[in-house]
Amino acid sequence: MERWLTAEGKRSVSRLLLGPALVLSLLAVQASCHGSCTHRVPSRGEVVHQVHLKPERLTKRSSPDDLQLKIKIIYDSSVDRLPADKRRLVKDKLFPQAIDYLQRAFSVRRRVGPVLLSRQCATNQYMRKRGDPHRYCQEACADITRCGPVVVPQHHLQQCKVCSESGKSCGPTGPPDGPGVDGSDFVLYVSGITTERCGQENIVAYAAYCQLEAELDRPIAGYANLCPAMISSQPQEFEGMLSTVKHEIIHALGFSAGLFAFYHDDEGKPLTPRFASGLPAFNDSLGLYQWSEAVIRRVSRLWDIRGGEMVRHHVHVLVTPRVVEEARRHFNCPILEGMELENQGGTGTELNHWEKRLLENEAMTGSHTQNRVFSRLTLAIMEDSGWYRANYSLAQRLDWGRGLGCDFVMKSCKFWMDRQRQRRHPVTPFCDTVRASPLQLTCRQDQLAVAVCNLQKYPQQLPLEYQYFDRIPDVAADQLSSFGGAVEIADFCPFSQEFSWHLSGEYQRNSYCRVSENQPDWWRNYGAEQYGPDSVCLYQKSAFVMEQCTRKMTYPDWGSGCYKVSCSYQGLTVYVQDRSFLCSRKGQLLSVSVRVSDWVYNGVLVCPACTDFCDDCPLPHQLLPINTSRSNPIGQRHSGPQSPALVTHPWEHGYNSTCFLLFIIRNCLLFLDPCSSSPGLAITLWLLLLNLVPLVAGLLVCHCS
Ligand SMILES: [Zn+2]
Repeated sequence: MERWLTAEGKRSVSRLLLGPALVLSLLAVQASCHGSCTHRVPSRGEVVHQVHLKPERLTKRSSPDDLQLKIKIIYDSSVDRLPADKRRLVKDKLFPQAIDYLQRAFSVRRRVGPVLLSRQCATNQYMRKRGDPHRYCQEACADITRCGPVVVPQHHLQQCKVCSESGKSCGPTGPPDGPGVDGSDFVLYVSGITTERCGQENIVAYAAYCQLEAELDRPIAGYANLCPAMISSQPQEFEGMLSTVKHEIIHALGFSAGLFAFYHDDEGKPLTPRFASGLPAFNDSLGLYQWSEAVIRRVSRLWDIRGGEMVRHHVHVLVTPRVVEEARRHFNCPILEGMELENQGGTGTELNHWEKRLLENEAMTGSHTQNRVFSRLTLAIMEDSGWYRANYSLAQRLDWGRGLGCDFVMKSCKFWMDRQRQRRHPVTPFCDTVRASPLQLTCRQDQLAVAVCNLQKYPQQLPLEYQYFDRIPDVAADQLSSFGGAVEIADFCPFSQEFSWHLSGEYQRNSYCRVSENQPDWWRNYGAEQYGPDSVCLYQKSAFVMEQCTRKMTYPDWGSGCYKVSCSYQGLTVYVQDRSFLCSRKGQLLSVSVRVSDWVYNGVLVCPACTDFCDDCPLPHQLLPINTSRSNPIGQRHSGPQSPALVTHPWEHGYNSTCFLLFIIRNCLLFLDPCSSSPGLAITLWLLLLNLVPLVAGLLVCHCS
């Protein structure tokens, strides 16, 4: 291989691609950012409160201690009308798997008898009689009772109870109580209807509760509607859809601004005072039942912004005991009042989610960006509702913000980035590189995906409290107020995001290292990357160069790539095609020169810390002295067992990315004839196209909220 290289005396200096045939392909790089979740809190009229249920018949469950949450899924006929592949996906995989996780994660504190729902009233006027737990409709019950868009089957309904207009004569009427749904704590009506919301909000699914039981106000029924056009049966989109479905059902079970006023303490007492009606006060301006300060408090932060100034930044924090404890522990901030709720994104996103700036990839933040995890914080809020116990062994590890202290969680991201720069530390988990052509590639926080910093220019100035930059290289001072992160609900704080490639609007692949299907075609594999279950994201010190005879090609977007690694007693080994390289210390440079299909790839990779990926790493005194990177032919590599620590996160891939598109015309299909003479016309054409890139690169920003 080396001889082949040195034999090539003439090395052209360019970033160019040559070939007898040159086919231009248009690829769009999209950051994986699904539209914000707007959990629409159901209106007062849509929800039936204080539904009286008979006590549980103890024989129905295996043991009185078996309080595991039981969710009964009832599929609406609309699901059966979905195309076969989507129907199978929904019924055989998506919902069974989501429900299985939630049932294992939660148990109920108090069981109830068969879920038998209350009927809606014809006029939305109802009455209650002293000493009678039932709800009476004034004059008539509605012909049908709905839970969201779904019509509740008659056999799930109680007998209609009505009072005359004067309220004097009251009694049951019509068919008797149905059998209800026995042996379940929550009935979930699942539909697949193209509702108005589906068209308006570009969403996969939405869900909410519709009836709450009388004793603890726990939701006993809810719905989840899937927007048929947005259901994707592509396997690589499954994990994202699954986490969306779990996210939505968690809204229906308890994490909802419409339910905060109904939370109870561990003794079963309401955390918010009630009127004689049994309900808390209703806040007309919010359109929500008003919670007390035992649930949520408004706090004010001193917030650093551009120009050395500070403003007041007001936020709502959830202050229930377990959430406070978990938040303090997660961020390592003992004075933290509680966990901040989302303050942006409009009704539906704000207050119904964790603050995106602070818990970026937590699954209960308001948009799906990357690598979603259900953390201890989400389990804690469900426990603090007073309705459930949580099984914390099912919480997933959340790295974002972990241990970063009060300066991270109680200050603006400007304060954090400035402090990190002063200490000569990286500004992670934020970033400060403008997303522009050529892209400076980086790694996602967990180092399992290639990523790009989402700092971008907005067409207008950002609100003052979200202007964070005093200087950005190559940006004029009067433009700085328009620069911020692409994810608005993260308080416009910029951070690195994984992304996906789209060709003519069609999803091609994404930048997650652990999926073999993301492997680029060889003619586009500029960095000799390898995607697969053992691969991680590594930084490149310089752009890789592909060489063949007198040709050289490189890719202007560089900075990181996916490479296979393994762990052994010697430490971390990196593989590039047929070569292996031992990383002895973090930051060590690996000079890579490998040959694949008549091309030689030259580049330099940067070693991560062995402890980032391996359980057992050599101690400093056990390390071999290193001056240069060692490269061993693959056959001689140490074949130690691969560390199970390599897998740190399940794949939660972003899908249906619609937030922004960065079009790049720079990818060429090449049909190569090794060492044939270069057609001058092709060079000229390519150089011409390359020079047009800055003109053609377009940034289309769409707000998903
Ligand atoms: Zn949501």
